[in-house]
Amino acid sequence: MADFSDIYDQEQMKEHMQYVLKTDKASHAYIISGEDGSGKEFIARIFAKALQCSDRQEKDGEIEACDLCPSCIKAMSDNHPDIITITHDKPNSIGVDDIRLRLRDDVVIKPYESKYKIYIIPEGEKMTIAAQNALLKTLEEPPSYIIIIILTNNLNAFLPTIISRCIVLPTKPVRDEVIKKYLMENCRVVDYKAELSAAFARGNIGKALELSSNERFENLKNETIDLITKLENLEVHDIMDRVHGLLENPEADEKSTKKGIDIAQYEDFMDILLFFFRDMLVFKASDNVDHLIFTDKVSYISSVTNKCSYDDISSILDNIDIAKNRISSNVNIDLALELMLIGIKEHL
Ligand SMILES: [Zn+2]
Repeated sequence: MADFSDIYDQEQMKEHMQYVLKTDKASHAYIISGEDGSGKEFIARIFAKALQCSDRQEKDGEIEACDLCPSCIKAMSDNHPDIITITHDKPNSIGVDDIRLRLRDDVVIKPYESKYKIYIIPEGEKMTIAAQNALLKTLEEPPSYIIIIILTNNLNAFLPTIISRCIVLPTKPVRDEVIKKYLMENCRVVDYKAELSAAFARGNIGKALELSSNERFENLKNETIDLITKLENLEVHDIMDRVHGLLENPEADEKSTKKGIDIAQYEDFMDILLFFFRDMLVFKASDNVDHLIFTDKVSYISSVTNKCSYDDISSILDNIDIAKNRISSNVNIDLALELMLIGIKEHL
């Protein structure tokens, strides 16, 4: 089971939680905010376990749960009567009844065996306004022993009156090198794949984990690079056929505005191109593989940088940027991609 030492790069948040554990001055309500995959629930559960532990210890300068007392054992098996997760019946909203039944009617009952009664509300942004108002009533007059931890990917979904009664703890992006190390040491991901997943995850450790184990992404990456290596010898219609094969969502209907192109797939495709040609710029400047993301494609990268000038590679990167801008301002996606790939071909 995880402890504070397993939370990476969230110094401000950890500092606050450590202060609470040292002084036993907990607030009644917290909001942990951050995108999906940033580890909000993971952090909340470590905090809750430590708050309830009856024998906290100092390890490497941090207050940690003991992991041995009856409270810790129950927390670790997700079976603690005083750590309650608020679930909801409808998948897309947390309604007033969910909050009334599982929280408001429950807070009046004292903790069964611990000092606190801790409620964790995942996907807090799904609370309806009525649900938030019901929650507000509890936040206005909280029983002394309760701590509510709301998790959310969107702070804007909350009433200002809720936010003003909570301590907001935002998650921060984790550094690439920390993610890479984590993937290699804890998940046995190979070096180049860890590098690549970390670069694409943009500080989101959950996304990095998913990418490193995701076959779809691995295929897309390999096919995209294969397309680039063959670009010189392909005609425009062959290029576009391959692009469609890569990006089309087979389940999309014919009339869909993006013509069946899978948006997530398209975004990853553009990122792969950007990172790939950025690698070429880095390699040309440094002649060193240490800073590359696509360390498994060094021979191709070096062959391109031998024959292409800085201007060529810069122009290719410009082409990719222009296409992204065109598509985000609703230019026909096919046309924008076609112009981009012809542009790339000219400079290779
Ligand atoms: Zn304990």
